[in-house]
Amino acid sequence: MKLKSKLFLSYLFLIILFSFSLLWLVIETRELTTSLRGHVQQDVHSIIEVSHQLQSLEDLYVNYISLFISSKAANKKIGQVEKYRKAFDKNWKNLKFRIETPYHKAWYDKVLNRIYIFIYNTISSRREYDYSKEIDELTQKVDQRWLRTNEAVKKSIYYLKRNRLDDAKYIRDVRVKGNVKKLRESLTGLNKIIGERGIKKSTELAMIAQKTQWVIFSAEAVIILVILLAAFIGARLLTKPVDALKTAIGQVAVQNFDIKIKNKSNDEIGELGTAFEQLCSRLKESETYKSTMLSQFTHEMKAPLGSIKQAVRLLETSFSDGLSKDQKRFFSIVKENNESLQKLITNILHSASYDSGKVRLSYSSVNIVKLITQVCVNLAPTIKQKAIKVNLNFAANEIFCEVDQDKMKEVFQNLINNAVKFSNENTVIDVTIAEKIALLTIIIKDQGIGIPKKEIPYIFEKLYRASNSKKISVKGTGLGLYISSQIIRAHGGRIHVESELGKGTIFKITLPRTKNVAEEGGWLT
Ligand code: ATP
Ligand code: MG
Repeated sequence: MKLKSKLFLSYLFLIILFSFSLLWLVIETRELTTSLRGHVQQDVHSIIEVSHQLQSLEDLYVNYISLFISSKAANKKIGQVEKYRKAFDKNWKNLKFRIETPYHKAWYDKVLNRIYIFIYNTISSRREYDYSKEIDELTQKVDQRWLRTNEAVKKSIYYLKRNRLDDAKYIRDVRVKGNVKKLRESLTGLNKIIGERGIKKSTELAMIAQKTQWVIFSAEAVIILVILLAAFIGARLLTKPVDALKTAIGQVAVQNFDIKIKNKSNDEIGELGTAFEQLCSRLKESETYKSTMLSQFTHEMKAPLGSIKQAVRLLETSFSDGLSKDQKRFFSIVKENNESLQKLITNILHSASYDSGKVRLSYSSVNIVKLITQVCVNLAPTIKQKAIKVNLNFAANEIFCEVDQDKMKEVFQNLINNAVKFSNENTVIDVTIAEKIALLTIIIKDQGIGIPKKEIPYIFEKLYRASNSKKISVKGTGLGLYISSQIIRAHGGRIHVESELGKGTIFKITLPRTKNVAEEGGWLT
């Protein structure tokens, strides 16, 4: 998948996740307000209407009773009672419908309500108390009692209209009074139970609101965590191939062109990795070609240079007596340059043998104190010439380390020679050995010309000479540090440099004390 598609999809995922969480929040609050409004409205309206119903029952009853008190305007009074009776009947039918039918909800509100009740039941240990059975029973009672009252009132009015006062009174006392009493009781009971349900529901809803707040808060926290985790994983997935590429580039910097990038991604970075691998294999080819050419070339030069050296020596001895001062100077120039060329060729050939990184070592226990002292003795003429003071800071006369003696001698020779070469007259060079159980640290510190900061990373590269050292008339091929670092690495050691331009340089070598330490400590990797 392309990088831009990956980025697009990760952003899309995060946006969807975030939108869902917001949507959920909106649903929750909407459901809460809808439920609150619906329940409260329904119950309060029902209570008001049941109270009205009670009031109209009282009106009907009072007017009905007054029919028996005086016979004045009897027809008018009967008409009024009939009006109250019909009004009660009609209102009761409406009220019954309201009580029996739950408050109106849109279809989506009903769906949301189900989800809501599910969530509520999951988070709440308490279950909503169901009043519907009691309300149903009371509604049915009111219904039946009203039917009886209605019939009885109708019947007694029928007798009154026909002046059968005794029959009417009988109906009043036996059927109307008792039924009205019971009807009143049932209506009051209905009002009470609806009121109780209202209070209970409001309390439950308040509790739900509180719990929902908590659930929303926790869910949002979880969502934020998921988003953070997703962002972290996404970033890791994106940067992993870049890291692999970075490591590979680091390998090239230390002349390792055998690059194989692991777990290449299937995007632009993966393509870059493949291109980089191809580039490295081309670099390796050209490096091998360069080394082979250089080796062949130097090899071919070795024999003629040897002949020149021999011939010059013969010529010098043949004409030794009759040579003028200038002729002697010319002879020494030819000899000196011949020697530099031979040294260059030896170094080039020597360094080529280290190119593969596999240096053959013949280990033995070597007294490093003795080895360094020997090197200094060999360099004594130059040291003396420049009036340099060399301090050998060794805690003991014998400090042993398991190394290849000849190769380590070459390392110290190059490092101390460098310190002498790049130091001015009358300066000091300090050589220190610090012993640890498993490691040995050798420090060579001079007060010489130093190395420009930007060039420090390159001084271990083949044929590299710092710009400041080229300006002064110091001879060198730029191979000494390359060979030294390869030898130290082959021993499982490390070489480190610190330098300040114009002030001096410190080379620090760390060596495992034995071959075992190098192998078991993983120093050889
Ligand atoms: P060679 O050792 O092959 O005869 P060289 O001494 O110039 O030649 P290296 O020993 O590889 O080469 O050192 C590389 C470069 O690092 C030097 O040319 C010099 O610029 C810098 N350098 C090394 N040691 C020092 C030092 N002690 N002080 C200042 N510069 C140094
Ligand atoms: Mg050198």
